[in-house]
Amino acid sequence: MNKKKEKVPFKKSVKNNIFILKMTLRLHPGFVIMRFIMGIITGLNHGISLFFVSEILNVLDRSADFTKIMWLCAGMALYTLAYELCFEWYYKLIFPRQKLDFIRKLHKHFFIKANELDLACYDTPEFYNDFVYSMRNSDKSFIRTIEQLAETLKNIIASASVFALVLTVNPIISIVILGLSLLSMVILILRNGVYFKYNLEMNDIWRKKWYIVRFFSLAEYAKEIRLSNVSDNMMNEFNKEAENECTAVKRMQLKASAYQTVLEIFTCATTLFILLFLSYKLIVTREVFIGGFTVALSASWKLRWLFTDIQNKIVQMNQDSLYADKVKTFLETESKIKSGDVELDKFESLEFENVSFKYKDEYVLNNVSFKVMAGERIAFVGYNGAGKTTTTKLIMRLYDVTDGRILINGIDIRDYDIVSLRSKLGAVFQDYKVFAATIAENVIGDSYNEKDERIIIDALNDSTFQTKLENLENGIKTELTREFYDTGTDLSGGENQKIAIARVFAHQNELVIMDEPSSALDPIAEYNLNLGIEKNAKDKTVIFITHRLSTTRHVNRIYMFENGRIIEQGSHEELIENRGKYCEMFELQAKKYRQKEE
Ligand code: ADP
Repeated sequence: MNKKKEKVPFKKSVKNNIFILKMTLRLHPGFVIMRFIMGIITGLNHGISLFFVSEILNVLDRSADFTKIMWLCAGMALYTLAYELCFEWYYKLIFPRQKLDFIRKLHKHFFIKANELDLACYDTPEFYNDFVYSMRNSDKSFIRTIEQLAETLKNIIASASVFALVLTVNPIISIVILGLSLLSMVILILRNGVYFKYNLEMNDIWRKKWYIVRFFSLAEYAKEIRLSNVSDNMMNEFNKEAENECTAVKRMQLKASAYQTVLEIFTCATTLFILLFLSYKLIVTREVFIGGFTVALSASWKLRWLFTDIQNKIVQMNQDSLYADKVKTFLETESKIKSGDVELDKFESLEFENVSFKYKDEYVLNNVSFKVMAGERIAFVGYNGAGKTTTTKLIMRLYDVTDGRILINGIDIRDYDIVSLRSKLGAVFQDYKVFAATIAENVIGDSYNEKDERIIIDALNDSTFQTKLENLENGIKTELTREFYDTGTDLSGGENQKIAIARVFAHQNELVIMDEPSSALDPIAEYNLNLGIEKNAKDKTVIFITHRLSTTRHVNRIYMFENGRIIEQGSHEELIENRGKYCEMFELQAKKYRQKEE
Protein backbone atom coordinates (compact mmCIF):
# COMPACT_ATOMS: atom_id res chain seq x y z
CA MET A 1 0.00 0.00 0.00
CA ASN A 2 1.22 3.43 -0.95
CA LYS A 3 2.14 5.28 2.23
CA LYS A 4 2.56 8.66 0.61
CA LYS A 5 0.43 11.32 2.25
CA GLU A 6 -0.97 14.12 0.11
CA LYS A 7 -0.69 17.26 2.20
CA VAL A 8 -0.82 20.86 1.09
CA PRO A 9 0.85 23.32 3.48
CA PHE A 10 -1.09 26.51 4.09
CA LYS A 11 1.27 28.74 2.10
CA LYS A 12 1.12 26.41 -0.87
CA SER A 13 -2.64 26.17 -0.54
CA VAL A 14 -2.88 29.97 -0.79
CA LYS A 15 -0.61 29.94 -3.84
CA ASN A 16 -2.69 27.20 -5.47
CA ASN A 17 -5.93 29.10 -4.90
CA ILE A 18 -4.37 32.22 -6.38
CA PHE A 19 -3.29 30.13 -9.36
CA ILE A 20 -6.89 28.99 -9.96
CA LEU A 21 -8.18 32.53 -9.48
CA LYS A 22 -5.67 33.93 -11.99
CA MET A 23 -6.39 31.24 -14.52
CA THR A 24 -10.15 31.69 -14.22
CA LEU A 25 -9.69 35.45 -14.55
CA ARG A 26 -7.64 34.93 -17.70
CA LEU A 27 -10.18 32.57 -19.26
CA HIS A 28 -13.35 34.44 -18.25
CA PRO A 29 -12.80 37.73 -16.36
CA GLY A 30 -16.53 38.57 -16.45
CA PHE A 31 -17.43 35.40 -14.56
CA VAL A 32 -15.02 36.13 -11.68
CA ILE A 33 -15.72 39.85 -11.46
CA MET A 34 -19.50 39.40 -11.41
CA ARG A 35 -19.32 36.63 -8.80
CA PHE A 36 -17.08 38.78 -6.56
CA ILE A 37 -19.32 41.85 -6.94
CA MET A 38 -22.24 39.66 -5.84
CA GLY A 39 -20.11 38.51 -2.89
CA ILE A 40 -19.62 42.15 -1.83
CA ILE A 41 -23.32 43.00 -2.28
CA THR A 42 -24.54 39.99 -0.27
CA GLY A 43 -21.90 40.71 2.37
CA LEU A 44 -23.04 44.33 2.77
CA ASN A 45 -26.64 43.15 2.92
CA HIS A 46 -26.00 41.63 6.36
CA GLY A 47 -25.06 45.02 7.83
CA ILE A 48 -27.67 47.04 5.91
CA SER A 49 -30.68 44.87 6.83
CA LEU A 50 -29.57 44.84 10.47
CA PHE A 51 -29.21 48.64 10.32
CA PHE A 52 -32.85 49.07 9.21
CA VAL A 53 -34.16 46.79 11.98
CA SER A 54 -32.08 48.56 14.63
CA GLU A 55 -33.15 52.05 13.46
CA ILE A 56 -36.85 51.12 13.51
CA LEU A 57 -36.53 49.62 17.00
CA ASN A 58 -34.59 52.63 18.26
CA VAL A 59 -37.26 55.04 16.97
CA LEU A 60 -39.93 52.88 18.60
CA ASP A 61 -38.02 52.89 21.86
CA ARG A 62 -37.05 56.55 21.96
CA SER A 63 -39.54 58.80 20.12
CA ALA A 64 -42.23 56.53 18.62
CA ASP A 65 -42.38 58.98 15.67
CA PHE A 66 -44.74 57.31 13.17
CA THR A 67 -43.65 59.37 10.14
CA LYS A 68 -40.05 58.45 10.77
CA ILE A 69 -41.02 54.78 11.14
CA MET A 70 -42.99 54.99 7.86
CA TRP A 71 -40.00 56.38 5.98
CA LEU A 72 -37.71 53.77 7.49
CA CYS A 73 -40.12 50.91 6.57
CA ALA A 74 -40.48 52.26 3.01
CA GLY A 75 -36.70 52.53 2.69
CA MET A 76 -36.29 49.02 4.01
CA ALA A 77 -38.94 47.62 1.63
CA LEU A 78 -37.38 49.37 -1.38
CA TYR A 79 -33.91 48.23 -0.44
CA THR A 80 -35.07 44.61 0.08
CA LEU A 81 -36.87 44.64 -3.29
CA ALA A 82 -33.79 46.00 -5.08
CA TYR A 83 -31.57 43.44 -3.38
CA GLU A 84 -33.86 40.48 -4.16
CA LEU A 85 -34.23 41.56 -7.82
CA CYS A 86 -30.48 41.90 -8.17
CA PHE A 87 -30.00 38.49 -6.53
CA GLU A 88 -32.57 36.80 -8.81
CA TRP A 89 -31.24 38.50 -11.93
CA TYR A 90 -27.72 37.33 -11.20
CA TYR A 91 -28.38 33.76 -10.03
CA LYS A 92 -31.10 32.95 -12.56
CA LEU A 93 -29.87 34.78 -15.63
CA ILE A 94 -26.19 35.66 -15.43
CA PHE A 95 -24.44 33.05 -13.29
CA PRO A 96 -25.64 29.85 -15.10
CA ARG A 97 -24.74 31.28 -18.53
CA GLN A 98 -21.34 32.57 -17.42
CA LYS A 99 -20.60 29.29 -15.66
CA LEU A 100 -21.29 27.19 -18.77
CA ASP A 101 -19.31 29.59 -20.90
CA PHE A 102 -16.37 29.37 -18.52
CA ILE A 103 -16.54 25.53 -18.43
CA ARG A 104 -16.48 25.47 -22.24
CA LYS A 105 -13.38 27.69 -22.30
CA LEU A 106 -11.69 25.67 -19.57
CA HIS A 107 -12.27 22.36 -21.37
CA LYS A 108 -10.96 23.82 -24.59
CA HIS A 109 -7.84 25.00 -22.77
CA PHE A 110 -7.30 21.51 -21.31
CA PHE A 111 -7.91 19.77 -24.65
CA ILE A 112 -5.31 21.97 -26.36
CA LYS A 113 -2.83 21.27 -23.56
CA ALA A 114 -3.51 17.52 -23.71
CA ASN A 115 -2.83 17.57 -27.44
CA GLU A 116 0.55 19.21 -26.87
CA LEU A 117 1.71 16.64 -24.31
CA ASP A 118 4.62 14.41 -25.17
CA LEU A 119 3.77 10.74 -25.40
CA ALA A 120 6.41 10.20 -22.72
CA CYS A 121 4.07 11.89 -20.22
CA TYR A 122 1.66 9.00 -20.57
CA ASP A 123 4.46 6.62 -19.50
CA THR A 124 4.73 8.26 -16.05
CA PRO A 125 1.87 6.83 -13.98
CA GLU A 126 1.89 9.66 -11.45
CA PHE A 127 1.71 12.33 -14.10
CA TYR A 128 -0.90 10.33 -16.02
CA ASN A 129 -3.12 10.05 -12.92
CA ASP A 130 -2.90 13.80 -12.33
CA PHE A 131 -3.65 14.43 -15.96
CA VAL A 132 -6.77 12.23 -15.97
CA TYR A 133 -7.87 13.72 -12.65
CA SER A 134 -7.45 17.25 -14.01
CA MET A 135 -9.39 16.46 -17.17
CA ARG A 136 -12.27 14.84 -15.29
CA ASN A 137 -12.70 17.23 -12.37
CA SER A 138 -11.52 20.54 -13.71
CA ASP A 139 -14.91 22.22 -14.16
CA LYS A 140 -16.36 21.29 -10.76
CA SER A 141 -13.18 22.16 -8.88
CA PHE A 142 -12.58 25.50 -10.58
CA ILE A 143 -16.16 26.61 -10.02
CA ARG A 144 -16.00 25.45 -6.40
CA THR A 145 -12.80 27.39 -5.73
CA ILE A 146 -14.23 30.60 -7.21
CA GLU A 147 -17.41 30.04 -5.17
CA GLN A 148 -15.38 29.56 -1.97
CA LEU A 149 -13.32 32.67 -2.62
CA ALA A 150 -16.40 34.78 -3.38
CA GLU A 151 -18.18 33.41 -0.29
CA THR A 152 -15.13 34.16 1.88
CA LEU A 153 -15.11 37.71 0.53
CA LYS A 154 -18.83 37.92 1.32
CA ASN A 155 -18.24 36.72 4.89
CA ILE A 156 -15.41 39.20 5.44
CA ILE A 157 -17.51 42.11 4.14
CA ALA A 158 -20.49 40.91 6.18
CA SER A 159 -18.37 40.63 9.36
CA ALA A 160 -16.91 44.09 8.77
CA SER A 161 -20.33 45.68 8.18
CA VAL A 162 -21.90 43.99 11.21
CA PHE A 163 -18.91 44.91 13.38
CA ALA A 164 -19.06 48.53 12.20
CA LEU A 165 -22.73 48.63 13.22
CA VAL A 166 -22.04 47.26 16.71
CA LEU A 167 -19.23 49.82 17.08
CA THR A 168 -21.83 52.56 16.73
CA VAL A 169 -23.86 50.95 19.52
CA ASN A 170 -21.10 50.53 22.07
CA PRO A 171 -17.33 50.12 21.50
CA ILE A 172 -16.78 47.95 24.60
CA ILE A 173 -19.58 45.56 23.64
CA SER A 174 -18.23 45.33 20.10
CA ILE A 175 -14.74 44.41 21.38
CA VAL A 176 -16.20 41.80 23.76
CA ILE A 177 -18.30 40.24 20.98
CA LEU A 178 -15.38 40.23 18.57
CA GLY A 179 -13.06 38.64 21.15
CA LEU A 180 -15.53 35.88 22.04
CA SER A 181 -16.27 35.14 18.38
CA LEU A 182 -12.56 34.85 17.68
CA LEU A 183 -12.13 32.51 20.63
CA SER A 184 -14.88 30.17 19.41
CA MET A 185 -13.18 30.25 16.02
CA VAL A 186 -9.96 28.96 17.66
CA ILE A 187 -11.87 25.99 19.14
CA LEU A 188 -13.34 25.38 15.73
CA ILE A 189 -9.89 25.43 14.12
CA LEU A 190 -8.78 22.73 16.57
CA ARG A 191 -11.86 20.65 15.71
CA ASN A 192 -11.29 21.07 11.98
CA GLY A 193 -7.69 20.01 12.49
CA VAL A 194 -9.11 16.61 13.48
CA TYR A 195 -11.06 16.41 10.20
CA PHE A 196 -8.04 17.53 8.22
CA LYS A 197 -5.82 14.89 9.77
CA TYR A 198 -8.51 12.31 9.13
CA ASN A 199 -8.68 13.27 5.44
CA LEU A 200 -4.93 12.89 5.10
CA GLU A 201 -5.11 9.46 6.70
CA MET A 202 -7.94 8.49 4.42
CA ASN A 203 -6.17 9.36 1.17
CA ASP A 204 -4.49 5.96 0.89
CA ILE A 205 -7.65 4.06 1.74
CA TRP A 206 -9.81 6.04 -0.69
CA ARG A 207 -7.23 5.71 -3.46
CA LYS A 208 -7.22 1.95 -3.07
CA LYS A 209 -11.01 1.69 -2.83
CA TRP A 210 -11.41 3.92 -5.88
CA TYR A 211 -9.09 1.64 -7.86
CA ILE A 212 -11.19 -1.39 -6.85
CA VAL A 213 -14.42 0.38 -7.86
CA ARG A 214 -12.86 1.13 -11.27
CA PHE A 215 -11.59 -2.43 -11.47
CA PHE A 216 -15.14 -3.79 -11.19
CA SER A 217 -16.78 -1.15 -13.37
CA LEU A 218 -14.45 -0.54 -16.32
CA ALA A 219 -14.90 -2.57 -19.49
CA GLU A 220 -11.12 -2.99 -19.93
CA TYR A 221 -10.93 -5.24 -16.85
CA ALA A 222 -14.14 -7.20 -17.51
CA LYS A 223 -12.58 -10.02 -19.54
CA GLU A 224 -9.66 -10.64 -17.17
CA ILE A 225 -11.98 -10.65 -14.15
CA ARG A 226 -14.07 -13.41 -15.66
CA LEU A 227 -11.11 -15.58 -16.48
CA SER A 228 -9.30 -15.44 -13.15
CA ASN A 229 -9.81 -15.36 -9.39
CA VAL A 230 -8.42 -11.87 -9.12
CA SER A 231 -11.87 -10.50 -8.22
CA ASP A 232 -11.85 -12.47 -4.92
CA ASN A 233 -8.59 -10.81 -3.93
CA MET A 234 -9.96 -7.43 -4.87
CA MET A 235 -13.11 -7.97 -2.81
CA ASN A 236 -11.01 -9.01 0.19
CA GLU A 237 -8.88 -5.90 -0.24
CA PHE A 238 -12.02 -3.80 -0.48
CA ASN A 239 -13.41 -5.28 2.76
CA LYS A 240 -10.08 -4.74 4.51
CA GLU A 241 -9.98 -1.09 3.44
CA ALA A 242 -13.64 -0.59 4.43
CA GLU A 243 -12.81 -1.90 7.94
CA ASN A 244 -9.78 0.42 8.17
CA GLU A 245 -12.04 3.28 7.18
CA CYS A 246 -14.55 2.38 9.92
CA THR A 247 -11.82 2.37 12.58
CA ALA A 248 -10.48 5.73 11.41
CA VAL A 249 -13.98 7.27 11.33
CA LYS A 250 -14.65 6.11 14.91
CA ARG A 251 -11.35 7.58 16.14
CA MET A 252 -11.95 10.85 14.34
CA GLN A 253 -15.59 11.18 15.54
CA LEU A 254 -14.57 10.71 19.18
CA LYS A 255 -12.01 13.52 19.02
CA ALA A 256 -14.27 15.80 16.99
CA SER A 257 -17.17 15.26 19.44
CA ALA A 258 -14.96 16.28 22.36
CA TYR A 259 -14.10 19.59 20.67
CA GLN A 260 -17.74 20.03 19.65
CA THR A 261 -18.87 19.66 23.27
CA VAL A 262 -16.35 22.29 24.43
CA LEU A 263 -17.60 24.55 21.63
CA GLU A 264 -21.27 24.10 22.63
CA ILE A 265 -20.54 24.88 26.31
CA PHE A 266 -18.49 27.92 25.32
CA THR A 267 -21.25 29.15 23.00
CA CYS A 268 -23.89 28.82 25.72
CA ALA A 269 -21.71 30.61 28.25
CA THR A 270 -20.86 33.49 25.91
CA THR A 271 -24.49 33.94 24.79
CA LEU A 272 -25.54 34.11 28.45
CA PHE A 273 -22.77 36.57 29.25
CA ILE A 274 -23.60 38.86 26.33
CA LEU A 275 -27.33 38.75 27.16
CA LEU A 276 -26.73 39.69 30.81
CA PHE A 277 -24.18 42.36 29.88
CA LEU A 278 -26.53 43.94 27.34
CA SER A 279 -29.54 43.74 29.67
CA TYR A 280 -27.49 45.55 32.34
CA LYS A 281 -26.55 48.31 29.86
CA LEU A 282 -30.17 48.58 28.67
CA ILE A 283 -32.00 48.48 31.99
CA VAL A 284 -29.56 49.75 34.61
CA THR A 285 -27.16 52.17 32.93
CA ARG A 286 -29.39 53.02 29.84
CA GLU A 287 -26.22 53.13 27.69
CA VAL A 288 -27.98 51.21 24.90
CA PHE A 289 -31.51 51.28 23.47
CA ILE A 290 -33.61 48.36 22.31
CA GLY A 291 -32.30 48.75 18.69
CA GLY A 292 -28.71 48.62 19.89
CA PHE A 293 -29.59 45.67 22.13
CA THR A 294 -30.99 43.77 19.13
CA VAL A 295 -28.05 44.70 16.88
CA ALA A 296 -25.47 43.62 19.44
CA LEU A 297 -27.23 40.35 20.23
CA SER A 298 -27.76 39.28 16.64
CA ALA A 299 -24.25 40.54 15.78
CA SER A 300 -22.80 38.17 18.37
CA TRP A 301 -24.58 35.25 16.66
CA LYS A 302 -23.88 36.50 13.16
CA LEU A 303 -20.19 37.11 13.76
CA ARG A 304 -19.74 33.68 15.28
CA TRP A 305 -21.53 32.12 12.33
CA LEU A 306 -19.60 34.21 9.78
CA PHE A 307 -16.24 33.39 11.39
CA THR A 308 -17.17 29.72 11.44
CA ASP A 309 -18.02 29.88 7.78
CA ILE A 310 -14.76 31.69 6.92
CA GLN A 311 -12.87 28.97 8.79
CA ASN A 312 -14.82 26.21 6.97
CA LYS A 313 -14.16 27.83 3.62
CA ILE A 314 -10.44 28.03 4.38
CA VAL A 315 -10.38 24.31 5.23
CA GLN A 316 -12.34 23.53 2.08
CA MET A 317 -10.01 25.66 -0.03
CA ASN A 318 -7.03 23.85 1.44
CA GLN A 319 -8.52 20.51 0.44
CA ASP A 320 -9.46 21.77 -3.00
CA SER A 321 -5.98 23.11 -3.49
CA LEU A 322 -4.80 19.51 -3.62
CA TYR A 323 -6.62 19.43 -6.91
CA ALA A 324 -5.10 22.75 -8.02
CA ASP A 325 -1.70 21.19 -7.41
CA LYS A 326 -2.46 18.44 -9.91
CA VAL A 327 -3.82 20.89 -12.47
CA LYS A 328 -0.75 23.08 -12.04
CA THR A 329 1.59 20.16 -12.64
CA PHE A 330 -0.37 19.23 -15.73
CA LEU A 331 -0.58 22.75 -17.15
CA GLU A 332 3.01 23.64 -16.36
CA THR A 333 4.41 20.55 -18.06
CA GLU A 334 6.38 21.73 -21.04
CA SER A 335 6.72 19.57 -24.12
CA LYS A 336 10.30 18.34 -24.43
CA ILE A 337 9.79 17.61 -28.11
CA LYS A 338 10.54 21.01 -29.61
CA SER A 339 9.69 21.86 -33.18
CA GLY A 340 12.41 23.06 -35.52
CA ASP A 341 11.73 25.47 -38.38
CA VAL A 342 12.87 23.61 -41.51
CA GLU A 343 9.95 22.75 -43.82
CA LEU A 344 9.99 19.25 -45.25
CA ASP A 345 9.05 19.63 -48.94
CA LYS A 346 9.66 16.16 -50.26
CA PHE A 347 10.79 13.01 -48.54
CA GLU A 348 13.96 11.61 -50.11
CA SER A 349 15.72 9.51 -47.48
CA LEU A 350 15.62 8.40 -43.88
CA GLU A 351 18.74 7.46 -41.97
CA PHE A 352 19.28 6.18 -38.43
CA GLU A 353 22.83 7.01 -37.32
CA ASN A 354 23.87 4.98 -34.22
CA VAL A 355 20.55 5.59 -32.55
CA SER A 356 20.05 4.47 -28.95
CA PHE A 357 16.94 5.09 -26.91
CA LYS A 358 15.55 4.49 -23.43
CA TYR A 359 12.04 5.17 -22.12
CA LYS A 360 13.27 5.23 -18.53
CA ASP A 361 16.46 3.63 -17.20
CA GLU A 362 17.11 0.79 -19.60
CA TYR A 363 18.10 1.15 -23.22
CA VAL A 364 15.54 -0.49 -25.51
CA LEU A 365 17.39 0.49 -28.71
CA ASN A 366 21.19 0.19 -29.01
CA ASN A 367 23.23 1.67 -31.82
CA VAL A 368 20.63 1.18 -34.50
CA SER A 369 21.76 2.29 -37.98
CA PHE A 370 20.03 1.90 -41.32
CA LYS A 371 19.09 3.94 -44.38
CA VAL A 372 15.87 3.93 -46.39
CA MET A 373 15.53 5.68 -49.74
CA ALA A 374 12.28 7.16 -51.11
CA GLY A 375 10.05 4.56 -52.78
CA GLU A 376 11.55 1.56 -50.97
CA ARG A 377 9.56 -1.11 -49.15
CA ILE A 378 11.14 -2.07 -45.83
CA ALA A 379 10.16 -4.64 -43.22
CA PHE A 380 11.12 -4.65 -39.51
CA VAL A 381 10.89 -8.17 -38.15
CA GLY A 382 11.75 -9.75 -34.82
CA TYR A 383 10.19 -11.15 -31.70
CA ASN A 384 7.99 -9.08 -29.37
CA GLY A 385 9.81 -6.41 -27.42
CA ALA A 386 12.74 -6.27 -29.87
CA GLY A 387 12.31 -2.52 -30.47
CA LYS A 388 10.52 -2.33 -33.84
CA THR A 389 7.58 -0.14 -32.77
CA THR A 390 9.88 2.09 -30.72
CA THR A 391 11.97 2.69 -33.87
CA THR A 392 8.87 3.90 -35.74
CA LYS A 393 7.83 6.12 -32.82
CA LEU A 394 11.19 7.87 -33.10
CA ILE A 395 10.60 8.46 -36.81
CA MET A 396 7.28 10.13 -35.98
CA ARG A 397 8.98 12.17 -33.22
CA LEU A 398 6.58 10.85 -30.63
CA TYR A 399 9.82 10.49 -28.64
CA ASP A 400 13.30 11.90 -29.28
CA VAL A 401 16.44 9.75 -29.49
CA THR A 402 18.61 9.39 -26.38
CA ASP A 403 21.85 9.08 -28.37
CA GLY A 404 22.70 9.23 -32.07
CA ARG A 405 20.78 11.01 -34.83
CA ILE A 406 17.90 10.46 -37.21
CA LEU A 407 18.33 12.23 -40.53
CA ILE A 408 15.68 12.97 -43.11
CA ASN A 409 17.12 14.11 -46.43
CA GLY A 410 20.44 14.41 -44.54
CA ILE A 411 19.03 16.90 -41.97
CA ASP A 412 18.49 16.09 -38.29
CA ILE A 413 14.81 15.25 -37.74
CA ARG A 414 14.77 17.67 -34.77
CA ASP A 415 15.43 20.61 -37.12
CA TYR A 416 12.17 20.07 -39.02
CA ASP A 417 8.96 21.86 -38.26
CA ILE A 418 7.05 19.10 -36.51
CA VAL A 419 3.75 19.75 -38.29
CA SER A 420 5.43 19.73 -41.69
CA LEU A 421 7.30 16.52 -40.79
CA ARG A 422 4.21 14.69 -39.56
CA SER A 423 2.19 15.81 -42.59
CA LYS A 424 4.50 13.67 -44.72
CA LEU A 425 4.03 10.62 -42.47
CA GLY A 426 1.14 8.19 -42.29
CA ALA A 427 0.80 5.38 -39.80
CA VAL A 428 -1.39 2.41 -39.00
CA PHE A 429 -0.68 1.69 -35.37
CA GLN A 430 -0.74 -1.72 -33.81
CA ASP A 431 -3.32 -0.46 -31.30
CA TYR A 432 -5.31 1.43 -33.95
CA LYS A 433 -8.34 3.34 -32.79
CA VAL A 434 -11.57 4.38 -34.48
CA PHE A 435 -13.27 7.47 -33.12
CA ALA A 436 -16.89 8.22 -32.25
CA ALA A 437 -17.58 9.85 -35.64
CA THR A 438 -18.83 8.79 -39.08
CA ILE A 439 -16.80 6.41 -41.24
CA ALA A 440 -16.06 9.32 -43.58
CA GLU A 441 -14.76 11.50 -40.73
CA ASN A 442 -12.71 8.62 -39.39
CA VAL A 443 -11.05 8.13 -42.76
CA ILE A 444 -10.48 11.77 -43.70
CA GLY A 445 -9.60 12.73 -40.09
CA ASP A 446 -11.56 15.97 -40.37
CA SER A 447 -15.14 17.17 -40.94
CA TYR A 448 -16.68 15.46 -43.93
CA ASN A 449 -16.88 17.40 -47.16
CA GLU A 450 -18.79 16.06 -50.21
CA LYS A 451 -15.75 16.69 -52.42
CA ASP A 452 -13.80 14.05 -50.48
CA GLU A 453 -16.38 11.31 -51.10
CA ARG A 454 -14.47 9.66 -53.96
CA ILE A 455 -11.16 9.69 -52.04
CA ILE A 456 -12.83 8.13 -48.99
CA ILE A 457 -14.63 5.39 -50.94
CA ASP A 458 -11.47 4.52 -52.93
CA ALA A 459 -9.45 4.32 -49.72
CA LEU A 460 -12.06 2.04 -48.14
CA ASN A 461 -12.14 -0.17 -51.23
CA ASP A 462 -8.35 -0.52 -51.18
CA SER A 463 -8.37 -1.40 -47.51
CA THR A 464 -10.86 -4.18 -48.44
CA PHE A 465 -13.76 -2.58 -46.53
CA GLN A 466 -16.07 -2.36 -49.56
CA THR A 467 -18.19 -5.50 -48.83
CA LYS A 468 -18.99 -4.24 -45.35
CA LEU A 469 -19.63 -0.72 -46.67
CA GLU A 470 -22.19 -2.01 -49.16
CA ASN A 471 -24.12 -3.54 -46.27
CA LEU A 472 -24.26 -0.35 -44.25
CA GLU A 473 -27.49 1.55 -44.79
CA ASN A 474 -25.86 4.96 -44.32
CA GLY A 475 -22.67 4.09 -46.20
CA ILE A 476 -19.76 6.34 -45.31
CA LYS A 477 -22.09 8.45 -43.16
CA THR A 478 -22.52 5.56 -40.71
CA GLU A 479 -21.76 6.65 -37.14
CA LEU A 480 -19.12 4.44 -35.57
CA THR A 481 -19.22 3.29 -31.92
CA ARG A 482 -22.12 3.85 -29.52
CA GLU A 483 -20.36 6.56 -27.56
CA PHE A 484 -22.48 9.38 -28.99
CA TYR A 485 -25.49 7.58 -30.46
CA ASP A 486 -27.28 4.37 -29.41
CA THR A 487 -27.77 3.70 -33.11
CA GLY A 488 -24.00 3.83 -33.75
CA THR A 489 -22.31 0.82 -35.34
CA ASP A 490 -19.68 -1.24 -33.57
CA LEU A 491 -17.29 -2.85 -36.06
CA SER A 492 -15.23 -5.99 -35.56
CA GLY A 493 -11.47 -5.79 -34.83
CA GLY A 494 -10.61 -6.55 -38.47
CA GLU A 495 -13.09 -3.99 -39.79
CA ASN A 496 -11.74 -1.31 -37.47
CA GLN A 497 -8.26 -2.12 -38.71
CA LYS A 498 -9.44 -1.62 -42.30
CA ILE A 499 -10.77 1.85 -41.36
CA ALA A 500 -7.38 2.69 -39.81
CA ILE A 501 -5.64 1.54 -43.00
CA ALA A 502 -8.05 3.52 -45.21
CA ARG A 503 -7.08 6.59 -43.17
CA VAL A 504 -3.51 6.25 -44.46
CA PHE A 505 -4.64 5.58 -48.03
CA ALA A 506 -6.81 8.70 -48.08
CA HIS A 507 -3.89 11.04 -47.40
CA GLN A 508 -0.96 12.13 -49.49
CA ASN A 509 1.72 10.79 -47.14
CA GLU A 510 5.17 10.08 -48.51
CA LEU A 511 6.44 7.75 -45.79
CA VAL A 512 3.97 5.22 -44.48
CA ILE A 513 4.47 3.07 -41.37
CA MET A 514 2.32 0.00 -41.05
CA ASP A 515 2.61 -1.75 -37.70
CA GLU A 516 1.11 -5.24 -38.15
CA PRO A 517 -1.49 -3.92 -40.63
CA SER A 518 -3.07 -7.33 -41.19
CA SER A 519 -2.93 -8.66 -37.61
CA ALA A 520 -6.72 -8.77 -37.32
CA LEU A 521 -7.44 -9.82 -40.92
CA ASP A 522 -8.18 -13.24 -42.38
CA PRO A 523 -5.83 -14.59 -45.12
CA ILE A 524 -8.05 -13.51 -48.04
CA ALA A 525 -8.49 -10.00 -46.65
CA GLU A 526 -4.73 -9.92 -46.06
CA TYR A 527 -4.03 -10.91 -49.69
CA ASN A 528 -6.44 -8.23 -50.96
CA LEU A 529 -4.98 -5.70 -48.57
CA ASN A 530 -1.51 -6.35 -49.97
CA LEU A 531 -2.91 -5.60 -53.44
CA GLY A 532 -4.51 -2.44 -52.01
CA ILE A 533 -1.20 -1.35 -50.47
CA GLU A 534 0.61 -1.98 -53.77
CA LYS A 535 -1.90 0.17 -55.61
CA ASN A 536 -2.05 2.93 -53.05
CA ALA A 537 1.50 3.15 -51.90
CA LYS A 538 2.99 2.86 -55.40
CA ASP A 539 5.02 6.04 -55.05
CA LYS A 540 5.34 5.96 -51.28
CA THR A 541 8.02 4.65 -48.99
CA VAL A 542 6.56 1.97 -46.75
CA ILE A 543 7.95 0.53 -43.52
CA PHE A 544 6.12 -2.60 -42.39
CA ILE A 545 6.39 -4.10 -38.96
CA THR A 546 5.21 -7.58 -39.56
CA HIS A 547 5.46 -11.21 -38.69
CA ARG A 548 3.72 -12.15 -41.92
CA LEU A 549 6.10 -13.65 -44.41
CA SER A 550 3.61 -12.96 -47.17
CA THR A 551 4.69 -9.33 -46.72
CA THR A 552 8.42 -9.71 -46.04
CA ARG A 553 8.95 -11.74 -49.23
CA HIS A 554 8.08 -8.74 -51.38
CA VAL A 555 9.98 -5.93 -49.67
CA ASN A 556 13.31 -4.43 -50.78
CA ARG A 557 15.02 -5.00 -47.47
CA ILE A 558 14.33 -6.67 -44.15
CA TYR A 559 15.81 -5.57 -40.82
CA MET A 560 15.78 -8.26 -38.17
CA PHE A 561 15.64 -6.78 -34.63
CA GLU A 562 16.69 -8.52 -31.44
CA ASN A 563 17.06 -6.90 -27.99
CA GLY A 564 17.07 -3.41 -29.45
CA ARG A 565 19.71 -4.13 -32.13
CA ILE A 566 19.58 -4.88 -35.82
CA ILE A 567 21.16 -8.31 -36.07
CA GLU A 568 20.49 -9.14 -39.74
CA GLN A 569 19.55 -7.22 -42.87
CA GLY A 570 18.93 -8.05 -46.51
CA SER A 571 16.25 -9.35 -48.84
CA HIS A 572 14.16 -12.38 -47.97
CA GLU A 573 16.26 -14.61 -50.22
CA GLU A 574 19.54 -13.29 -48.81
CA LEU A 575 18.44 -13.81 -45.21
CA ILE A 576 17.15 -17.32 -45.92
CA GLU A 577 20.49 -18.11 -47.53
CA ASN A 578 22.29 -16.75 -44.42
CA ARG A 579 20.47 -19.31 -42.27
CA GLY A 580 20.42 -16.92 -39.34
CA LYS A 581 17.65 -15.86 -36.95
CA TYR A 582 15.33 -14.65 -39.72
CA CYS A 583 15.61 -18.01 -41.47
CA GLU A 584 14.89 -19.77 -38.16
CA MET A 585 11.78 -17.65 -37.64
CA PHE A 586 10.64 -18.20 -41.20
CA GLU A 587 11.03 -21.98 -41.00
CA LEU A 588 9.26 -22.12 -37.65
CA GLN A 589 6.34 -20.23 -39.13
CA ALA A 590 6.25 -22.36 -42.27
CA LYS A 591 6.30 -25.51 -40.12
CA LYS A 592 3.42 -24.29 -37.99
CA TYR A 593 1.48 -23.42 -41.12
CA ARG A 594 2.10 -26.90 -42.60
CA GLN A 595 1.00 -28.52 -39.30
CA LYS A 596 -2.19 -26.50 -39.43
CA GLU A 597 -2.83 -27.62 -43.03
CA GLU A 598 -2.40 -31.30 -42.06
P1 ADP B 1 8.34 -4.49 -30.56
O1 ADP B 1 7.61 -3.51 -31.40
O2 ADP B 1 9.54 -5.07 -31.24
O3 ADP B 1 7.45 -5.58 -30.03
P2 ADP B 1 8.63 -2.30 -28.72
O4 ADP B 1 9.38 -1.30 -29.49
O5 ADP B 1 7.17 -2.11 -28.59
O6 ADP B 1 8.93 -3.77 -29.29
O7 ADP B 1 9.25 -2.40 -27.26
C1 ADP B 1 10.65 -2.47 -27.04
C2 ADP B 1 10.88 -2.45 -25.52
O8 ADP B 1 10.47 -1.21 -25.00
C3 ADP B 1 10.09 -3.51 -24.77
O9 ADP B 1 10.90 -4.05 -23.78
C4 ADP B 1 8.95 -2.75 -24.18
O10 ADP B 1 8.52 -3.34 -22.96
C5 ADP B 1 9.56 -1.39 -23.93
N1 ADP B 1 8.55 -0.33 -24.03
C6 ADP B 1 7.71 -0.11 -25.06
N2 ADP B 1 6.95 0.98 -24.81
C7 ADP B 1 7.34 1.44 -23.59
C8 ADP B 1 6.93 2.54 -22.79
N3 ADP B 1 5.99 3.39 -23.20
N4 ADP B 1 7.55 2.71 -21.60
C9 ADP B 1 8.51 1.87 -21.18
N5 ADP B 1 8.94 0.81 -21.88
C10 ADP B 1 8.37 0.59 -23.09
